[in-house]
Amino acid sequence: MRYIVVGAGLAGLTAALELSQEGHDVVILEAADRPGGRVRTARGLADGQAQGTVSGQARESERGQAQGTANERATGEAQGTANKRATGEAQGTANKRATRQAQLAARGQPDRQANGLSEETASRPANEHVAELGAERIYPGQGLMLDLCTRYGLTLREVAPAPLPRAFLRGQEQNTADLVAALDVRLKATPPGDCESLAQWMHRARLSDLERALVSAVAQSTPAAPLRFTPAAGFTASFHSTGGYEIVGGNDLLTTAMAQDLEVHLDSRAIAVRWDEARVTVETSARTWNGDAVILAVPGPQLLEIAFDPVLDQERVHALLGLRFGEALRVVARYENEAFDPRVITDTEFGIITNQTAGQEENHALLSCLIPADREKKKDVLSRLDEVVSTVVGHRVNRNYGETHNWTSVVRVPWGDQTNTTIPKLATPLGKTVYFAGEHTDQRTTPGGMNGAVASGIRAAREISRQHPRTK
Ligand SMILES: Cc1cc2nc3c(=O)[nH]c(=O)nc-3n(C[C@H](O)[C@H](O)[C@H](O)COP(=O)(O)OP(=O)(O)OC[C@H]3O[C@@H](n4cnc5c(N)ncnc54)[C@H](O)[C@@H]3O)c2cc1C
Repeated sequence: MRYIVVGAGLAGLTAALELSQEGHDVVILEAADRPGGRVRTARGLADGQAQGTVSGQARESERGQAQGTANERATGEAQGTANKRATGEAQGTANKRATRQAQLAARGQPDRQANGLSEETASRPANEHVAELGAERIYPGQGLMLDLCTRYGLTLREVAPAPLPRAFLRGQEQNTADLVAALDVRLKATPPGDCESLAQWMHRARLSDLERALVSAVAQSTPAAPLRFTPAAGFTASFHSTGGYEIVGGNDLLTTAMAQDLEVHLDSRAIAVRWDEARVTVETSARTWNGDAVILAVPGPQLLEIAFDPVLDQERVHALLGLRFGEALRVVARYENEAFDPRVITDTEFGIITNQTAGQEENHALLSCLIPADREKKKDVLSRLDEVVSTVVGHRVNRNYGETHNWTSVVRVPWGDQTNTTIPKLATPLGKTVYFAGEHTDQRTTPGGMNGAVASGIRAAREISRQHPRTK
């Protein structure tokens, strides 16, 4: 059987691995020029120059920040760029890949480059300075992720749970414990409604200025959506972080290792899926792929950019429209010879500033935060972060690295329990040939995260196996 997987994030990679392990012929089409999706690691920070991610992609460094941000958006959206790349792919990649594979096979080496893992990345030292532009933490209970790390021989670093963060609101440090206690009283006195936005609840519960600043700061960092699109239900006054694990050397070591075992076609954005009960074709702008079935493992809202023939039913489209995703700018910056708290809450555009070096023996602070699209001011983001960090540490700081990345889909922002409503509609296959995976199809009330993406890939691969049992 020949299967096509669209999207080389954790969901697509997992589904493809499951199917290829069963002996099927699987190809992955990936729109970007690297695998991993929302797992994305920046490298080579120690000398102040980000060296690019796994595929050697040009990084959006401080120098080119404004232009780079626009470019990143364009990478996600502009079909023109994808067309150019895909045309290149059609003309030359297949031949080059075959030649390269033959050469590597003759030398007894795996074909890492074809799958987005450069020889350079594969041999990187585990203690290299890296920053996570996407997913940072494997949370406690994400057993599938831990299993995958074990399978690929990756070393995990445990990150201790962080205490209550310090809060800098309205220009000065506040007593976080007092504020949290006051907020808890508000939540108990005026419980949020099932379908009430945080913006609405803050007015209804008559929050003080400081309480509003605290709630806004926390909510903007997760789920990184405007307050009018953030559900109040489920918001708690508990700001402790749970801790968890990160992969030593960068989280993308996992996705690149997974991709290494698969046939991944980068720069191959799927634009149309034509299907019936027996066959499916997937079109990129450069070529058409035929298969017995396809798994679409792209973030939910991005399915609305792919044409379906026959078209999607109204119920599924309504479910897709009912999905809310955060859209935000990730900012990471590194400050030499600085100590910084594990997390600091601010009422600036930077919301919660997290220290990615927390728990490590390092003489620098590698800080990251998310700016939701509605709060993003386009220019001088990193200089403004310098100002805020200087205020928090009490002296001028020197940044030796800074980078931003725009995410058009951060994570699902669930309004109420969607496990029996929206999610089944999104996860159900179309006939016997079109299947769906991705973090947003995972059966849980909270966003799926990396573990949910892996779970969804396993589920989709099993659905296919059930429909297309192997004949001996
Ligand atoms: C800033 C940030 C921080 C996060 N922090 C955490 C965390 O700490 N812990 C955690 O568990 N989770 C975290 N997450 C969420 C986690 O990264 C995601 O849930 C998970 O990686 C999603 O995997 P996925 O395979 O479902 O989707 P993705 O990783 O988004 O993969 C989808 C892939 O599809 C590709 N694609 C899209 N359209 C097309 C097309 N038309 N044709 C071909 N390919 C296409 C994309 O380029 C992408 O590679 C974070 C996410 C972000 C953005």
